[in-house]
Amino acid sequence: MANGDAACSVPTIKFTKLFINGEFVDSVSGKRFETIDPRTGEVIALISEGGKEDIDIAVKAARHAFDSGPWPRLPGAERAKILMKWAELIDEHAEEIAALDTIDAGKLYHMCRNVEVPATANTMRYYAGAADKIHGEVLKGSREFHAYTLLEPVGVVGHIIPWNFPNSMFYVKVSPSLAAGCTMVLKPAEQTPLSALYSAHLAKLAGVPDGVLNVVPGFGPIAGAALSSHMDVDAISFTGSTKTGREIMQAAAKSNLKQVTLELGGKSPLIIFDDADIDKASELALIGILYNKGEVCVASSRVFVQEGIYDEFEKKLVEKAKAWVVGDPFDPKVQQGPQCDKRQFEKVLSYIEHGKREGATLLTGGKTVGNKGYFIEPTIFSDVKEDMLIAQDEIFGPVMALKKFKTVEEVIKSANNTKYGLAAGIVTKNIDTANTVSRSIRAGTIWINCYFAFDDDVPFGGYKMSGFGKDHGLEAIYKYLQVKSVVTPL
Ligand code: NAD
Repeated sequence: MANGDAACSVPTIKFTKLFINGEFVDSVSGKRFETIDPRTGEVIALISEGGKEDIDIAVKAARHAFDSGPWPRLPGAERAKILMKWAELIDEHAEEIAALDTIDAGKLYHMCRNVEVPATANTMRYYAGAADKIHGEVLKGSREFHAYTLLEPVGVVGHIIPWNFPNSMFYVKVSPSLAAGCTMVLKPAEQTPLSALYSAHLAKLAGVPDGVLNVVPGFGPIAGAALSSHMDVDAISFTGSTKTGREIMQAAAKSNLKQVTLELGGKSPLIIFDDADIDKASELALIGILYNKGEVCVASSRVFVQEGIYDEFEKKLVEKAKAWVVGDPFDPKVQQGPQCDKRQFEKVLSYIEHGKREGATLLTGGKTVGNKGYFIEPTIFSDVKEDMLIAQDEIFGPVMALKKFKTVEEVIKSANNTKYGLAAGIVTKNIDTANTVSRSIRAGTIWINCYFAFDDDVPFGGYKMSGFGKDHGLEAIYKYLQVKSVVTPL
């Protein structure tokens, strides 16, 4: 385990209260909850705990800002100016934001500082650029009528986000909905409230009017449930587990039939064919499962390798996994930090035990690292049968299920043998194989000869039980808009 020759110091925690109507305020109950540093298991800060009443106050603020405030009525170009300023502030404060995600979620500081945080500033810029290009269309209509459509913001949006990419998820949700002219209440995951509260402060500095963005940390079954069942919330945009997604849909159905979009779990296959460069493909497979310690919805948790290269591939993969550096995520040499929290740490370990009991072969890993915090070795199982729990459940940790295959038909069937459909990867030099497989796999994103290739203009979202609706791309703006048809006699 690498020791934290930390290149960056732990930041001072400035924002620990709920952000409602432009102010940082205590919760009505006065309750606070602990947010924990997964490197040590120690408390970082006490955070005001939002409950049902706080959600109600925040929704009222957002409703007022929507019904009577300037935001939805501003010309798109004016909204864009504020969002562009916010993007500049993200860049200026990138060190601090990155460090908050590192101490709260165990994410690699250098990856956050140099890749993920700058990417969120660009996400904001992308949607700022779209804010003045939202328009309906003039329709041909009939001989008697002239018709046109207006695209109007959907209203008050509830955003509920998970803990694996706290800062990125925040901006993936708020940027398009703000550009569309919505107002909102965002509930960060209880494990990782820090960067969301910091970003609320940046919103205020950028000039986002009071009440437009409200951030209410709190627990899922309390604050999250209050938001998804609130009668005055018009839409919920959720990222998290399939189980919670189902509960949110039920809450929406039982309350005011609010619009719901769900970005849920995955069990993504990465398929490597005989003609692949073994060195590059094994690197891709490893990064596919170990990036962000496997706490990634699109992690390549099932790797299928064609029989001609299987043995050599397995050898290379295990060598690389053994050399992978686990340790303090502030250390630039470290490739993998701790799991996000104790619950996730224990869940991953219990899946590893399951894998062993089910008869899969543990090629490497399987143990904890160090004597404090939530570190787990990169873990690879082979001889994984498709009905094993480790081949079907989303583990959300550094655990790969490796499997040999013979034919294209066989691997397509295996890859689709999951309730999820978020993403898949294909490695081959054969364009026909790549095209056939990408069309045959039921998943929302297919990466050919790459993995984790995200961009602001590339829509992202699931098939099957990985959910519906898209984040990223212009598609994401449209989920925060509704179409009004206006018809008039000629
Ligand atoms: P989770 O569903 O337990 O929690 C996610 C969020 O939902 C948190 O903010 C939580 O407080 C809230 N929540 C929990 N119960 C709730 C309820 N009853 N009502 C309303 N809100 C509630 O998920 P998690 O374990 O924190 O996150 C990991 C999951 O997220 C994985 O399944 C992962 O695949 C998924 N995920 C998906 C994507 C994607 O884009 N598809 C991205 C990241 C993570």
